[in-house]
Amino acid sequence: MAPMPPVHHHSAPRHAVVAGAGLIGLATAFELRRRGVAVTLADPRPASGATHAAAGMLAPIAETQYGQESLYPLMAASAVEYPAFIERVSAASGLPSGYRTEETLVVGVDSADAHSLQDLAAHQRAAGMHVDNITSREARKLEPALAPHFAGAIRFPRIIRWIPGYSPHP
Ligand SMILES: Cc1cc2nc3c(=O)[nH]c(=O)nc-3n(C[C@H](O)[C@H](O)[C@H](O)COP(=O)(O)OP(=O)(O)OC[C@H]3O[C@@H](n4cnc5c(N)ncnc54)[C@H](O)[C@@H]3O)c2cc1C
Repeated sequence: MAPMPPVHHHSAPRHAVVAGAGLIGLATAFELRRRGVAVTLADPRPASGATHAAAGMLAPIAETQYGQESLYPLMAASAVEYPAFIERVSAASGLPSGYRTEETLVVGVDSADAHSLQDLAAHQRAAGMHVDNITSREARKLEPALAPHFAGAIRFPRIIRWIPGYSPHP
């Protein structure tokens, strides 16, 4: 994805109106303010939509689905930019973000699940994503609370590595 163009203050808008104070509107308003733009945020019910329901998982690779190829550069860029963004939010709010970066396990309950996981992992790998096939034994070692019977697992490492050579700021 192309890097964000530099902001030229003589041509940048001085005032923006953001409609919707969910995650996207709030993040947009936050970043605009950081760039010196005055923001009016309009929402009759702030943070009442999908944002209120979200489980908080960040899965730019683990939740990849077929047919999303055109989104991969944006997903990769977001994954790379996110830690710095969340630090900025914490610094501005003075609150801990709760952002955690443990690796992710996806487990197949039966052999059909395990096969479709392997297929998806192959597709993800072909797109440059880092995915490890691991055995049930290895998965249980990583997560002892797993149910006694399952058919296979894939693991996404803690550090997101994606699209060799990709850099948001080339
Ligand atoms: C059950 C559930 C679980 C989820 N879990 C995850 C997860 O684990 N990880 C993840 O990444 N994503 C998750 N998501 C998706 C995630 O919640 C959304 O992608 C994200 O919250 C979208 O944010 P948003 O700001 O675009 O929309 P919203 O949060 O829906 O915000 C839209 C805002 O716009 C306001 N609005 C609507 N109309 C107007 C108008 N005319 N004028 C002004 N304001 C208006 C609404 O009041 C609302 O506050 C989950 C979603 C759901 C439903």
